[in-house]
Amino acid sequence: MHISDRTSSLEESFLNKWDSTVKYKILAGEDIIQFNLGQPGFACPDFVVKIIEEVNKRGKNNFYNHTAGTDGARQAAALFQKNMFGVEYDKDEIIITNGAKEALFLAFSAILNRGDEAVVIAPCWPSYIQQIKLAGAEPVIVDADEKFHLDIDAIKDAITQRTKVLVINNPNNPTGAVYEEEELLQISKLAADNDLIVISDEVYGTTVFDSKEHISIASLSGMKERSVVVDGFSKTLSMAGYRLGYAAASKEIISAMVKIKSNINGNTNSFFQTVIEKAVLEHFIELKTFVEFAGKEYEARRDFVCKKLLEMGIEFEKPEGTFYVFAKIPENYKGSSGEFAQYLLENAKVAVAPGKFFGDKYDRYFRISFGANMEEVEEGIGRVEKTIKSAI
Ligand code: PLP
Repeated sequence: MHISDRTSSLEESFLNKWDSTVKYKILAGEDIIQFNLGQPGFACPDFVVKIIEEVNKRGKNNFYNHTAGTDGARQAAALFQKNMFGVEYDKDEIIITNGAKEALFLAFSAILNRGDEAVVIAPCWPSYIQQIKLAGAEPVIVDADEKFHLDIDAIKDAITQRTKVLVINNPNNPTGAVYEEEELLQISKLAADNDLIVISDEVYGTTVFDSKEHISIASLSGMKERSVVVDGFSKTLSMAGYRLGYAAASKEIISAMVKIKSNINGNTNSFFQTVIEKAVLEHFIELKTFVEFAGKEYEARRDFVCKKLLEMGIEFEKPEGTFYVFAKIPENYKGSSGEFAQYLLENAKVAVAPGKFFGDKYDRYFRISFGANMEEVEEGIGRVEKTIKSAI
């Protein structure tokens, strides 16, 4: 009665809600392995911990700051993009946000009008849909192809006069797909032909396997002006709880995002902006070394998980990046993906994410995150194997 229509029709983040359920069980003493989480299991790298200590000693981080982010943090984000993905941004083309999640919300709110359509590729990270609805616009879902890559013809067919935004997530959560240059070029052409903005969530850009390369959409000809690239340090530096993200886009879009943010929460945490400024601007070699080390670790875990799933007869597309595998629920289990996740939670004491979180069509799938450490991955997969063998 007292809740707005807009909020009544909104879903709480499925992933956050499910994670709370799991965490309360752990708090109550249950020994659960968390494969449901979208966060790396690594400790924050030592060089970042040292910077945190230095910044803490120095103090002076208790004041309000610029809404768009400190100059240092914006320069750090710009340097990160340049060194990692070869795209050059001016600091005024960057906004520092409370995680990539806030950057996405600000981007949708700044760009979409009531009644506009935003094309989203499924299976997808569920918050895109809710954020687009919050912005008053309509999400239009287009399924990926059978390898979870972009189905360009289907995307083309979904574009109407009302389409203003195309959302891509590369590398992809939940499938681990990493888009090829050719498919990104086709997306660029669609964007140019239809005057669209591409909101490209690239939070897993540093986690690609088999010597593949992450190509930022903004690196393609004519696309820097047409895209909002969203990134952050939650995944790259195992800093999810510190909530440091950013968006890179035209000055016009960034100014619009700043306008919204200034009325919601003002600046992003000053302390961690100083930390990231130092981590990128003064310790880039250590940062790169950590990223390479983490990438190799994830690749080894990916190989282990895929080998075990094959042995269990579970079908999946081999992830090309990220730390997720989106797998098919065994044929002889007849329940929904929510029931399957609940079943594994109760019987294997392993939390996975139900496929339905990522799109209605994916109720025969489940997502495993192998972001945790190798011992946990081995133990968790062992438990799943035992449970599936004995009962399903
Ligand atoms: N985008 C995707 C695809 C994600 O998987 C996540 C987190 O899991 C986010 C954005 C949000 O990241 P952040 O922690 O920076 O808000």
